[in-house]
Amino acid sequence: MQLIDLRSDTVTQPTDAMRQAMARAETGDDVYGDDPTVRLLESTLAERLGMAAGMFVPSGTMSNLLALMAHCERGDEYIVGQQAHTYKYEGGGAAVLGSIQPQPIEMEADGTLSFERIRAAIKPDDFHFARTRLLALENTMQGKVLPTDYLAAARAFAHEHGLALHLDGARLFNAAVKSGCEAQDIAQHFDSVSVCLSKSLGAPVGSVLCGDWALIDRARRLRKMVGGGMRQSGILAAAGLYALEHHVERLAEDHEHARLLGEGLREAGYEVEPVQTNMVYVQIGERIQALAAFCSERGIRLIPSARLRLVTHLDVSGEMIRQVIAAFIEFARA
Ligand SMILES: *Cc1c(COP(=O)(O)O)cnc(C)c1O
Repeated sequence: MQLIDLRSDTVTQPTDAMRQAMARAETGDDVYGDDPTVRLLESTLAERLGMAAGMFVPSGTMSNLLALMAHCERGDEYIVGQQAHTYKYEGGGAAVLGSIQPQPIEMEADGTLSFERIRAAIKPDDFHFARTRLLALENTMQGKVLPTDYLAAARAFAHEHGLALHLDGARLFNAAVKSGCEAQDIAQHFDSVSVCLSKSLGAPVGSVLCGDWALIDRARRLRKMVGGGMRQSGILAAAGLYALEHHVERLAEDHEHARLLGEGLREAGYEVEPVQTNMVYVQIGERIQALAAFCSERGIRLIPSARLRLVTHLDVSGEMIRQVIAAFIEFARA
């Protein structure tokens, strides 16, 4: 039975061509700055984002952590969405390892943070308070693309309040492909941007943090400190370079598959949230364990949750989407 894994876009297997690119990679000791493939990945992605410098790191979690720590000192504060990955899904790293106080804010339905709410949370310059230093956004946010005019407004808002602006762009390229713009058009509003290579781009490992040279220099020192300095990591960077060249435009296919899946499930009577990129959210409620077991018997893997998230990616075909819809229809009738 062929497995259809909709848990996340992190489950993709490196393709044969990607493995060949990895096998051929020129390498060196990257802690000494000697790995040409890592350097090429860093400069390629930075250039594509219109930023000065990039740094290859093992994970998106580390990339975000180093960005927050490069922007903030101990006792500083960053403002972030209540459901944002950096706040909710990274083990509280900014607080634990950076002594940075998070100030979470209720999010709007479109994935943005309201400037009114942010303004109310910014602390006055007074020694009773942590120093509010940074605003962190996420794009895509649970599959939603932040509106372009919101990003420009966030830039102006951050400037007005003396805040730096970080983007958790784990799926930045999904946002760009969906908007029909260049990644740079989104990245231009931010002081730092973290991009995952191991999500929808299909590489096995790695993220890149981009920003200006001063920020990346600070982050590089911190990367060594947290144990993220890697040696012949060009093997991994080669997969990232391959993904940037071959797996960006094809994200449109994942989005189309997600749209078809959402449409099919809606027609079958499921309550489906509007689909923008490669994530489909479905309200299943208390039947979720039964559904998960039903799907599992048919080779469909999902993470059981009353608000079910289904993610399309490189290893999900149109035929698989049809099979998933058929299984959900069968379950609804059972
Ligand atoms: C997955 C993810 C991360 C973290 O990436 P890891 O490589 O899993 O540590 C950060 N932000 C968002 C939005 C993500 O989806």
